[in-house]
Amino acid sequence: MTDQTMQFQAEVARLLHIVTHSLYSQKEIFLRELISNASDACDKLRFAAQTDSGLWDGDSDLKVMLRIDKAARTITLTDNGIGMNRDELIANLGTIARSGTGEFVAGLQDDNAKDVSLIGQFGVGFYSAFMVAGKVEVTSRRAGEAQAWHWVSDGTGSFTIGETDKPGRGTSILLHLREGEDEFLEADRLRGIVKTYSDHIALPVVLQLEDDKEETLNAASALWSRAKSEVTEEQYKAFYHHVAHAFDDPWATLHARAEGKLDYSLLLFVPSQPPRDLFDPARKSALRLYVRRIFITDRCDELVPAWLRFLRGVVDSADLPLNVSREMLQNNPVLTRIRQAITRRVLGELERKAANEAESYADFWQNFGAVLKEGIYEDFEHRQQLLKLARFRSSEHDGWVSLADYIARMKPGQNAIYTINGDSIEGLKRSPQLEGFRAKGVEVLLLTDAVDDFWLASAPDFEGKPFRSVTRGGADLDAIQGEEKSETDKAGEDKPEAVEGAALGTLVALLKTVLGERVRDVRESKRLTDSACCLVAGDGDMDMHLERLLRLNKQFAQETPRILEINPRHPLIKGMAERAGQSGAADALRDNALLLLDQARIVEGEPPADPQAFAQRLAKVMAAGII
Ligand code: ADP
Ligand code: MG
Repeated sequence: MTDQTMQFQAEVARLLHIVTHSLYSQKEIFLRELISNASDACDKLRFAAQTDSGLWDGDSDLKVMLRIDKAARTITLTDNGIGMNRDELIANLGTIARSGTGEFVAGLQDDNAKDVSLIGQFGVGFYSAFMVAGKVEVTSRRAGEAQAWHWVSDGTGSFTIGETDKPGRGTSILLHLREGEDEFLEADRLRGIVKTYSDHIALPVVLQLEDDKEETLNAASALWSRAKSEVTEEQYKAFYHHVAHAFDDPWATLHARAEGKLDYSLLLFVPSQPPRDLFDPARKSALRLYVRRIFITDRCDELVPAWLRFLRGVVDSADLPLNVSREMLQNNPVLTRIRQAITRRVLGELERKAANEAESYADFWQNFGAVLKEGIYEDFEHRQQLLKLARFRSSEHDGWVSLADYIARMKPGQNAIYTINGDSIEGLKRSPQLEGFRAKGVEVLLLTDAVDDFWLASAPDFEGKPFRSVTRGGADLDAIQGEEKSETDKAGEDKPEAVEGAALGTLVALLKTVLGERVRDVRESKRLTDSACCLVAGDGDMDMHLERLLRLNKQFAQETPRILEINPRHPLIKGMAERAGQSGAADALRDNALLLLDQARIVEGEPPADPQAFAQRLAKVMAAGII
């Protein structure tokens, strides 16, 4: 077969253009990326050889070799890992498959070259070779296959692929250095780079010196198997960057070893930036599972509960068999116990940070709180512990508050933790249902994560205090002794007189007749101070925000009628109540009644029941006001 020239996928071509033209100063990261790929390839081989030992083919001494040729101005990086066949070379080095990468490339500008350092995170690390090399040759032979392949490209638009010979399996990458990149021909420079970025790689990175001597450049022992005291902050960071494909610094690092009934090591990180796939439903866990230093999989959902899926790092078990298959990992009792241990340790660490580093903990909560809250909903065992760790926005305080803070500030006579759910904090702060609570200084937690609706619906309590939505039921405000502004404070404000009881009763009856099935009930409100009216849910009914969410997701079809509450001190209600006692009131007030309900719906984020009719009525009422 003759060599074939093919075009790079458009995103790859664009990425290569940026990479080669950026003035990015840390070009040395190309070596980190290529060594990381070699290490992954060796992990893959080791795993495949568990079930097909023929793949070892007499060569089980896995390593990466670096060779410098000063005369030819090249560096070669060779591994004896899994290798690639023709299709894999084309797919892996010619296209970008990973989701989100297209956006990353589109967002990269020629002048914000610093973003190029993120390259590995997006599964495009290989292309960083073109920062230093004007031409890259890849020779690879897939383990278990006879034919080797040669891939070559100058990183502009196309690559060429053809057959070649190669004695052993694995991949060899030959970099023809660009003009001005001679520093990478110096053994000392390579030593330094490997030490900085790749020391933690469990695989030996070996430099072949010109006199045929070999020198191992890294510690080449699994970082997590070393004692804590032997690992520096920098090494933890570099390792985090490697396992998480991330370039932020870890917010928390947990390195532990257990011996006895259960024998495992773990090195876990909480990122300081949310990973891109945090809410990708297919991605439950990104932890890497090893069995006695041998990589098994990074797709093991049993390792941590889904609500800890932001964790990155490694779990190494000595209790699982080496030839464990991915199927065997399901419902495995060893994994169940490791998961319990991880959960306990991580929650313990979070409690410690919440207590000692409140500010930094708030950042963590901002990033991952919505994920942890899934645990309140689905993990009964850890519910109380998670509620303690939870932080909330509040109607009375800026910043984050805990439930313990909330309870400490509860007013005499207050028995519940009041909440309101909605789409934005700003919107919630203006909710009419909040008015009466604010007037009494009763704190309300403002909840805006979709998951809030679900854990609240599972009706938990915290330290014996139930959660109660202010948009529901009778809002027992009467029983709470608030800090209702004292008579002297009130002097200037003049709380308006409420309409007389009998007149209000007539209006309520009229509204019930006109609105009929559209509402569950009409009644006087205790919670309104400024607005004319609002909607609340009946005690047994579904929360209004939750129902809207479910209807949006087509999981719930009909709309539950709500209770319309009216404010007896509002001039509009007073006016309507006066008119309600006169003859012909039902006809005269029909439009007002329907408009009242529609405006209450609009405040809730619901459209008017019949937008055309709403517009006509509004126009009529406005015209009447002008004439
Ligand atoms: P990532 O490593 O994040 O997947 P890269 O751009 O670094 O992204 O590499 C792309 C793909 O090319 C890898 O996923 C792997 O399948 C393949 N690859 C790269 N280098 C090697 C290698 N030395 N041996 C085998 N496969 C490799
Ligand atoms: Mg890579």
